Amino acid sequence: MLVVVGLIVAFVVILWLQPWKSRACRWREDRTHDGKQTRYYCAACGVVVLSDDGAPRRCLAGQE
Ligand SMILES: [Zn+2]
Repeated sequence: MLVVVGLIVAFVVILWLQPWKSRACRWREDRTHDGKQTRYYCAACGVVVLSDDGAPRRCLAGQE
């Protein structure tokens, strides 16, 4: 019984923290993009952003 309760608690904690959303992106600079802004794409989730001041610090997936 205690094992079942532990599994349920772990499941709830995983759903609550949602580690796949907070996972750090691996930003890559797209050097083929020419313009005033620098284009970055995330190798982890595929999000593309245009930035003036370097790569984003966290994952932007699902925020567009
Ligand atoms: Zn990402």
